[in-house]
Amino acid sequence: MHNQKELTSDMAAKAKLITSELECRMVDVGVQLHGGAGYMDEYEICRLYANARVSRIYAGSSEIMKEIIARSVFEAA
Ligand SMILES: Cc1cc2nc3c(=O)[nH]c(=O)nc-3n(C[C@H](O)[C@H](O)[C@H](O)COP(=O)(O)OP(=O)(O)OC[C@H]3O[C@@H](n4cnc5c(N)ncnc54)[C@H](O)[C@@H]3O)c2cc1C
Repeated sequence: MHNQKELTSDMAAKAKLITSELECRMVDVGVQLHGGAGYMDEYEICRLYANARVSRIYAGSSEIMKEIIARSVFEAA
């Protein structure tokens, strides 16, 4: 959609919000599955957990994505 110039900012915000929140939930399940080992730096799942967490912050935090989405809802009304 971006290549075809059809991607709007609120659609991009929805995609960023859903995927980064889902990534965190999924990796959290992975850490839980590994038990205490999931909290240790030596294991890949620990790094995945830290990396997933920052997805909700950088490139526009989840709260800002919600603001963009909310603005589009009110503009459409
Ligand atoms: C690893 C990493 C790489 C980065 N790379 C880049 C890069 O390449 N280019 C670039 O430009 N930036 C980059 N950033 C910056 C990144 O985009 C910012 O960290 C992000 O936009 C959040 O801004 P902030 O850190 O100043 O947090 P703040 O804006 O201070 O936010 C702190 C908290 O307050 C919340 N908050 C802020 N405003 C509101 C509001 N109006 N309503 C509700 N909650 C709010 C936020 O959601 C967050 O939880 C990078 C950051 C990191 C961690």
